Amino acid sequence: MKRSIVNVINIIFTLIAGIGFIIGISFLTILFIRNAPESTQYVSSKKLLGEKNVLYIGSYDAGYSVVNWQLEGINEIFIPNKVTLSIDYMDMRYFDTPENENNFYNSISYKLKTGKKIDAIIIGDDPALSFAIKYRNELFDNIPLFFMGINDVFYAREVAKDPLITGVAEKFYIVDTLNTAFELNPKATKIAALYDGTLTGIGLKQQLLLAKNAFPEKKLIELNASSIPLEELKRNLSEFGDDTVFIYLNLNEDSEGNIYNLAKATDFVTKYVKNIPIFTVGPVGIGNGFLGGKIYNYKESGIFIAKQVVDVLKNGKDVSSISFKDSFDGNYFFDWNVFNKFGLDKNKIPEDVSFLNSPTKYWELYFEVLKPFIIISISILLLLLVAFYNFIMVRKNEILLSIRNSEIDEKNKTLHDNEAKFRYMSERDYLTSIPNRMSAIVQIKSNVKKNIPMSILLLDIDNFKNINDYYTHSCGDFVLQDFSRRLELITSKMDAFVARYGGDEFLLIYQGKYLSEDSEDLATIKYIMNQPIFYENLKLDVTASCGIAHFTPGLTFDEIVSNADIAMYEAKRLGKNRRVFYDSEMKSRIIEKNRISEILEEKCKNKEFTVLYQPQVDCLTGKIRSYEALVRIENLTISPAKFIPIAEEGGFITKVGRIVTEKVIMQMAQWRDKGLPMKKIAINYSNGQLVDSEYVKYLKALLDKYQIPPEFVEVEITESLFLDNDILSKRLFNSLNEIGVRLALDDFGTGYSSLSYLTYLPVKKVKIDKSLVDNYLIEGKDSFIKNIVRLVHDLGLELTVEGVEQKWQYDKLKKLHCDFIQGYYFSKPITASEVEKNYLS
Ligand code: C2E
Ligand code: CA
Ligand code: CA
Repeated sequence: MKRSIVNVINIIFTLIAGIGFIIGISFLTILFIRNAPESTQYVSSKKLLGEKNVLYIGSYDAGYSVVNWQLEGINEIFIPNKVTLSIDYMDMRYFDTPENENNFYNSISYKLKTGKKIDAIIIGDDPALSFAIKYRNELFDNIPLFFMGINDVFYAREVAKDPLITGVAEKFYIVDTLNTAFELNPKATKIAALYDGTLTGIGLKQQLLLAKNAFPEKKLIELNASSIPLEELKRNLSEFGDDTVFIYLNLNEDSEGNIYNLAKATDFVTKYVKNIPIFTVGPVGIGNGFLGGKIYNYKESGIFIAKQVVDVLKNGKDVSSISFKDSFDGNYFFDWNVFNKFGLDKNKIPEDVSFLNSPTKYWELYFEVLKPFIIISISILLLLLVAFYNFIMVRKNEILLSIRNSEIDEKNKTLHDNEAKFRYMSERDYLTSIPNRMSAIVQIKSNVKKNIPMSILLLDIDNFKNINDYYTHSCGDFVLQDFSRRLELITSKMDAFVARYGGDEFLLIYQGKYLSEDSEDLATIKYIMNQPIFYENLKLDVTASCGIAHFTPGLTFDEIVSNADIAMYEAKRLGKNRRVFYDSEMKSRIIEKNRISEILEEKCKNKEFTVLYQPQVDCLTGKIRSYEALVRIENLTISPAKFIPIAEEGGFITKVGRIVTEKVIMQMAQWRDKGLPMKKIAINYSNGQLVDSEYVKYLKALLDKYQIPPEFVEVEITESLFLDNDILSKRLFNSLNEIGVRLALDDFGTGYSSLSYLTYLPVKKVKIDKSLVDNYLIEGKDSFIKNIVRLVHDLGLELTVEGVEQKWQYDKLKKLHCDFIQGYYFSKPITASEVEKNYLS
């Protein structure tokens, strides 16, 4: 909006300037044409071609300014009215002789007879009027006569009585001029006036005397140059002081017969009148030392007369109807320099004074000439103004632009800073501030691409879940941070890179070489990682399992990371807090594991499992007292020792557990329904089943449904169950106890196997593991088994020995007062139908 207004103003200014420029050029052209030479028009008889021809007669010559002013006024009217003017001068200023008059008469007479017909005569001054009247009948008979510039008003009035003659007198504003003079010098008491004895002088004297009547109290000093001796005149003139107002009327001759033209007269008067300003009533001396006065307007009188001529010649007006005019308007003219020289007060003169030589006057004089230049200058100025304004605007916009640019730079910088911050954040782990998984991936990929040898270490904090569960999450966070800090310390000492790879997983990239099993670096890692962590007032022995894999050319990123992962899982599998180097067998194990996982997932869907039953024999009698239920995958020969841990890891164990339990209870019901005597069945319970909090409820429902008394069911657990999961295992024990199902402790002798916990665990039976039988049931070592048997019995518990394959073993155990035997010596696990056959046999 604002911008468009500015544009409009710009256009308007430019237009004005353009128009002004054209006007200025036009004025200049007109001025040039006007000033072109054309003056001969008035004198050449060949040019007397206009419809009407008028002859001007003056007694002076073309060099006299009064004449020119008159002609200027006349032409202003004649030219547009197509009246041709011819001019003849009597040249009386220099040739006031009868011969000259005679010659002039002859010349005019000749011209009038041979040239164009003259329709009217204009007379410019007193001597010319005298000449015209004197020879009127011979030369100008019946030609209308118009006069102007006549000093002798009485004579003019007389002449104008002729019906073909009219005109205006030349008035001298003596009263007005004296009035102004006394305004300027109120102290003056005298009027001194200079004139001579010529016709003009006498006319002026008459007017002076009339004017004196207006100033009765002032003394008049008349200086008639024709009668006062020259020396006396000079003295008189030079003696005038402040008390006198000096007025120049005319000076054409002096008492010694010297003739004065205007220039000479002016020089003479200014030479002697020095102390006071020289007032004048004619167009004399102003600009040449005279101060000035009120002067008859010659140009106006020319216009006035020319109009009368046109009225008569063109409009047929009767000359007699135009009355004589005895006065005409005048104007004040003063010389600015003289005015100032005498320190005159500008406020005391009339308002319409024109100053000669004044700055104003100068201005007025040259205005016409200067006008086009002024207009052009203003136009150029305007254009410059517009250009300057535009320049300012452009500059302003440039500055604004540069400000905006620097703002953009600033924004870019912030953006850049933010980008850097963002990049830092996107590359860093929020909790530990070390590089994150993404950074590790980028780093490994880059090394792989450049074929840089490296070892990848994947560390996983052991039992980190417990830290979170038993302590707090902030404790867990602290452990992660402390771990990171340590890893950073390690990596800073070797050329390595560390990142947090997952929840409690860290990844180290050991660059440029391979980490060997006996390297110091690895020992350092182990040492630093095994230092206890102090959190508040806790001392935590946090360990980690580490899988190490090497990058060898040809391996992909996925392969190398997965290798480290496999090795790490191997470390976990081998009992945690260890460093395991990847080898290819691990991979095949994993592949096998994955294969089994897939099978398990599939088999779980349709409960495609069978249950085998291994008899447990009464040691004393050798009779079957109970069975242990052992699961098999239908139609496959994969050992449960292999697939059960995989089922635990993959989370299938809860399903497998329930399937086995259901199948066992249903089998028991079948056997019962077949009339077979009820025997106790032991069902294995894996640690992974603890998450199945509804398991006991499920078991109870089955017992109820199939009407199986709970005392015929035994659940086998291992010691790791309550060592690892204190709370959940207690809850399990309680709920099993509630429904009346007994517990047996399986695999005794493989783990911590502290006898102390047998004192508080709610188990009714302990099963000695096969490994114990193999290692201690030999000669000399059997006291250990003996002690266990005694201790278990002392606690009021029963004892089963597993893995009995030989008769001697059985015999020995029998001696040691073992309660039950389970082993191939009696029977391998058998199918349900085989169990039935046992009954029958
Ligand atoms: P376990 O609970 O210790 O089961 C006894 C294992 O020892 C059985 O192997 C059995 O066949 C084997 N065994 C018994 N007597 C002898 C012997 O004289 N010599 C030898 N060499 N082995 C003998 P199986 O059936 O392969 O089961 C292996 C393990 O799988 C079991 O060990 C048990 O931990 C687990 N398991 C088996 N079935 C189930 C099940 O239904 N549920 C759960 N949770 N685990 C099961
Ligand atoms: Ca078992
Ligand atoms: Ca066992």
